[in-house]
Amino acid sequence: MTAKEFLQECREKEIEFIDFRFTDIKGVWHHVTYDIDAMDEEVLANGIPFDGSSIPAWQPINESDMILKPDFEIGTHFVDPFTADPTMVVFCDVYNTDGTPYEKCPRSIAKKALKYMDELGIGDVAYFGPENEFFVFDNVVIRDDINSQCYEVDSSEGVWNDYADWGDELNIGHRPRTKGGYFPVAPTDTMVDLRAEMVKVLKEVGLETFVVHHEVAQAQGEIGVKFGTLVEAADNVQKLKYVVKMVAHLNGKTATFMPKPLYGDNGNGMHTHQSIWKDGKNMFYDPNGYANLSDVAKKYIAGVFAHADAVAAFTNASMNSYKRLQPGFEAPNILAYSAKNRSASCRIPFGAGEKSVRTEFRFPDSTANPYLAFTVMLLAGLDGIKNNLEIYEAAKEPLNEDLFELTLDEIKERGIRTLPATLREAIYAVEDELKDPNSFLKPVLTDEFIKTYIDYKYETEIIPVEGRPHPYEFITSYSC
Ligand code: GLN
Ligand code: MG
Ligand code: MG
Ligand code: MG
Repeated sequence: MTAKEFLQECREKEIEFIDFRFTDIKGVWHHVTYDIDAMDEEVLANGIPFDGSSIPAWQPINESDMILKPDFEIGTHFVDPFTADPTMVVFCDVYNTDGTPYEKCPRSIAKKALKYMDELGIGDVAYFGPENEFFVFDNVVIRDDINSQCYEVDSSEGVWNDYADWGDELNIGHRPRTKGGYFPVAPTDTMVDLRAEMVKVLKEVGLETFVVHHEVAQAQGEIGVKFGTLVEAADNVQKLKYVVKMVAHLNGKTATFMPKPLYGDNGNGMHTHQSIWKDGKNMFYDPNGYANLSDVAKKYIAGVFAHADAVAAFTNASMNSYKRLQPGFEAPNILAYSAKNRSASCRIPFGAGEKSVRTEFRFPDSTANPYLAFTVMLLAGLDGIKNNLEIYEAAKEPLNEDLFELTLDEIKERGIRTLPATLREAIYAVEDELKDPNSFLKPVLTDEFIKTYIDYKYETEIIPVEGRPHPYEFITSYSC
């Protein structure tokens, strides 16, 4: 679509405002709005100036002028369903004032990755299908900013703890028990209408949804969204988070995609289905392979596993992420692949044929910036294909057993690899990549961006969270 056609569409829809949106490194969606009367093709062509120094980890104050350029090609613009006045939202990429793409713009980075894939001759389209799970709470947090010690999480379904002695005071009728949310009908499922409202609004903004359900944990939900090309799928994650959070908010509730808000119950994942296509053919398909997987797909998996430590810093981008990756909660940290098996970090969905064979990586979560997470997984997979990597010895054959049952000793003895246990370890792996001139990240991520990412994670995640006393430490320090 051209800028002219875009403006024409705005006029037809009697749009009064245009809302320009872009995503920062953390994955936060930002916006700036223009009166439609101040808008014409020339303004759109020149781009929208903004202050890049006020966006975390972007520009220094003395080089703060940046430009937003709307992307009409991918065509994910939509009328904002939540504003009082008709407002058209358009996805933008960030540019330097000299007209070059900004090296710290995640959406531009994603486009660069696709170009790289094409140049390698491995594929011309990469499909991604993320599944972003979420919780709906009545009261999320009572914050104590100084001590960061007190918080209260009040789930909209009331939190039932099998081990708590709450006596007769708590009304436990029709409440999902711990891990009991999958999926009894109402009145146990209290979120039927709320999810339905979310689905309707998601359709309005252009998302195709399919399965809609309560998830395993209390007050947890999931809405299946159709897969898309890499940038489309990441754009869709931004739309999904916006709509789910807004609909909950307008109903007096708070939705969160945080990986592990409740101890002892399942967390929120962002399982990510992936496949690479070339000349209209699914490169992951081979009717003679295990679960119809091709050698290319296995090399892709091998690449993701080989680089898993650094990949995790992007797919599991918060300190909280690693609390989710504990055995027993369907969020596997074991680097293995298998059909049907939800305890393997790479599941091959059952019965998939030529059009639908894909890998489902189950470790990512929604604290990931979707543009960066998809890009980095793709880069790891491409590296596997390019260098003919094989899946490491202990997981070379599919592991079909319940991997959550393995003891740490067994994991060690068999040489099974796992994801890092903390964000700090994951970031150490990114530091190693930075030192390596042949790093799998470097064809697309600049050194400056990698450095910024590392510093940003230390400053905003690792140091502040590690440094704060945790409420549970009052229990572990009982001898004091
Ligand atoms: N909530 C689980 C996770 O954290 C997944 C549960 C499921 O979708 N089967 O990944
Ligand atoms: Mg799902
Ligand atoms: Mg799920
Ligand atoms: Mg899944």
